[in-house]
Amino acid sequence: MSQTWGEYKGQVKGFIFEQKEDSHSHKEHELEDPTSQKPPYYPPAEKEFISAMQTIANRFGKLADNDGNGIWVGYVDKKNNDNYKIGIYCEHCAHYASENVCKIIKAKIEPGGYCRLAAIPSEYVTISKKKNK
Ligand code: SF4
Repeated sequence: MSQTWGEYKGQVKGFIFEQKEDSHSHKEHELEDPTSQKPPYYPPAEKEFISAMQTIANRFGKLADNDGNGIWVGYVDKKNNDNYKIGIYCEHCAHYASENVCKIIKAKIEPGGYCRLAAIPSEYVTISKKKNK
């Protein structure tokens, strides 16, 4: 039986995500048969990274540049996102909550924006292999 993204995240040890309806609706990447959708794979190190960032945001509040916490977020909107074409954007990120809300940063986000703390499964990233010269 397949799981929704929300169900999957709720089961990952160390995650502090609230269980909301599936907010990870990246339509461009949806498969035609929803029963064949698999949750994204997060390698152990990335799970730790996601969990650590959630813990920090829970403890110190959502992050912003120059907020005194010493973590540079570096959020950019979609029009300034040079990595959008390769799949690096908020809607693919584990911290994406909804169209304008990130779970760990204070700024109002766009689904097509991204920040320095993005946690995006490699299966959503398209990097063309360059031939060795
Ligand atoms: S890329 Fe950054 S701003 Fe966007 S959802 Fe992820 S953590 Fe939040």
